[in-house]
Amino acid sequence: MSILVKDSIIVTQNADRKIIEGDVYIEDDKIVEVGSVSVEADFVLKNKIVLPGLINMHTHLPMTLLRGYGDDLPLEEWLTTRIWPVEAKLREKHIAIGTKLAFMEMVSTGTTCCNDMYFFEDIIAKEAKSFGMRCYAGFSIIDFDTPEMKAEHLLPECEKFVKKWKDDEIVKPVVAPHSTYTCSPETLEKANEIAGKYDTFIHIHCSETRKEVYDVLNRYGSRPLEQIKKYGLLTGKTMLAHCGWITKGEVKEIAKAKACVIHNPVSNMKLATGGYTPLPELMSEKACIALGTDGAASNNKLDMFETMKFTALIHKHHRWDASIVKAQEVLDMATINAAEFLGLNAGSIEEGKFADIICLDKISPNLIPRHNIISHLVYAASGFNVSDVVINGKAIMLDKKFMNINEEKVYEEAEEAKEELIE
Ligand SMILES: [Zn+2]
Repeated sequence: MSILVKDSIIVTQNADRKIIEGDVYIEDDKIVEVGSVSVEADFVLKNKIVLPGLINMHTHLPMTLLRGYGDDLPLEEWLTTRIWPVEAKLREKHIAIGTKLAFMEMVSTGTTCCNDMYFFEDIIAKEAKSFGMRCYAGFSIIDFDTPEMKAEHLLPECEKFVKKWKDDEIVKPVVAPHSTYTCSPETLEKANEIAGKYDTFIHIHCSETRKEVYDVLNRYGSRPLEQIKKYGLLTGKTMLAHCGWITKGEVKEIAKAKACVIHNPVSNMKLATGGYTPLPELMSEKACIALGTDGAASNNKLDMFETMKFTALIHKHHRWDASIVKAQEVLDMATINAAEFLGLNAGSIEEGKFADIICLDKISPNLIPRHNIISHLVYAASGFNVSDVVINGKAIMLDKKFMNINEEKVYEEAEEAKEELIE
């Protein structure tokens, strides 16, 4: 397949963060030429703002089925009376449909790669493969029985899952011990062994709430990040979701280990976790920061444009300093920073990179006049501006139409799943 994007503004996100006017030519899975291109192509798009696809680094994909179910409740009550009882009823078919819906929402709002963590991750991986979504699929490890299997089967099944997917082109297996409050030290160590044996990433929740920090401290005598470090999980292949309640010392530890902090500002605010991921401190220590939406039950969207905007706003407001987090820095978190951390040959529009790109219509009322494109992308654009999405060189959505999925069927099945899950 070949795709040519003509007469467009190209936000390259290359080393110089250059913005150029011109064309992008894609052949097979790669960006072949950027600049002034005159060739024939299977698909030709015109007058776009082209940028690297956004990378959503923290999701629980099937939770789209729980979107809007039990909002505006205190966290404990929300989990115990709404989320957990419904999750207990989840079966394979629900996971498949919730995941499809998540991919459709993510693609339609400009995401080309996600880093997930949930039960039934093998079903999620299969859905990613058939949809064409680039997906880091985190097999959840937890010390309780899950809707999918008994607790004692999780570690061996995780290893099988990693073996099964490790050589796939677009789906990468990840070991995902849920957190230090739901995984014992033994579980953390065993999860780490699997990750080490197959050289995979680790994805774990860390210091999301103050209660979590003190529960872990009371139980083990150390804070969540200390637990993670103590059992060998704090490395350059570790992704720490949230970090809303970490100390300045922990910021330094994370930077030193070259781990990645995944900031989920919308979910944190909606669940009222109270803490602020210390972005300015992490940035001054040159720690890797990426962005995530978290699951649709606690966001309630998977729109990374919204997450970018909230990322900038929450810290400006909190620190009384409008210059503390800049639009370019936020766009970097959602693209090139995440790609570099993942060792993924994407995240920028350059010759030889994987063709994971998104287009916005250049002529849109909220994107004119064009004083500053980067500012527009972070503060003015929304997922609704996204018109076309290419992942690994494949056209997944063109002119807002999905190329390979029956949309109506997914909506119908999602409504049916809702009826089954919530009586
Ligand atoms: Zn989460």
